[in-house]
Amino acid sequence: MAERTRIARYFAPLALEEAGSFSLTDDAAVITPPAGQSLVVTTDSVIESIHVLAGATAQQFAQKLMRRNLSDLAAMGATPWRYSVNLHTPKNLPDDWFAQFAATLGAEQHRFNLLLIGGDSTTGTGNIHTTMTCFGLINNAPLRRKGARVGDDIYVSGTMGDASYALTLLQQNTPIDEALASRYHCPIPRLKLGEMLHPIATSAIDISDGLVADISQITRASGVGATIQQEALPLSTCLKNAAIEPAQKYAFALSGGDDYELCFTAPPAKREAVATLATRLKLPLTRIGEITNGNAVEVLDETGQPIMLARAGYEH
Ligand SMILES: [Mg+2]
Repeated sequence: MAERTRIARYFAPLALEEAGSFSLTDDAAVITPPAGQSLVVTTDSVIESIHVLAGATAQQFAQKLMRRNLSDLAAMGATPWRYSVNLHTPKNLPDDWFAQFAATLGAEQHRFNLLLIGGDSTTGTGNIHTTMTCFGLINNAPLRRKGARVGDDIYVSGTMGDASYALTLLQQNTPIDEALASRYHCPIPRLKLGEMLHPIATSAIDISDGLVADISQITRASGVGATIQQEALPLSTCLKNAAIEPAQKYAFALSGGDDYELCFTAPPAKREAVATLATRLKLPLTRIGEITNGNAVEVLDETGQPIMLARAGYEH
């Protein structure tokens, strides 16, 4: 199928409600954010064998691509609005792949309330590369990695380590249940949390590369240190019950990537506000440590001894 036909059939319907997309028939889109709001722009890729498994389905590509990007918007406290998509695919990929990829994007944009405005596609050799640029909206100052202060509490949403545990099992071809697999294939961007953290958090980041690696981004940007209590880390029932060494479970939680939960800091005076938010969102928000006046991220065991990590997180 010609690129033009493919765009018209599969992708133009996703742009219908944004007049400035010109139904994807022009050289560029023209978009105007609502009065008084700022655009928050992020871009992220999903590449076969790096961010998804070799042979991943079109649905898995579309979900991971959308959710990786939305997680970055969540970390800034932004609301999803518009997006564009770039695809590089092998020449022999069947049209059905594009049909499924676009159908999944359609379901995702409906769920998360954003619209397609453009993109580009090429075919050739090699793996499938997909890239999305997401445009979010924000009313107030964005949440930043910079802003953590000495004495602030450190929190994470949800549970830690499930995605990297799932990935390890998937790579070993070990049968795993659907709920655990989805923690890797289909993470949940914490958009509502991000939007509601503005009056509470002093800094925030989404956990994509690994908890310790990502907290290091906060401490570096803020010019502070951090102490993490290992036994405070929220583990899912699934990971708690896994037939592996406790140290391995914590290694998944501390260094495994792909969880796409939010990590944020807030002063102790906000503990009640954080607890109220957790109840309201029905989402665990767990205090796992505090910001210190050092310059390193230290993880302590239950006796207060520092733990040496084999790796902090995913290396780019
Ligand atoms: Mg991020």
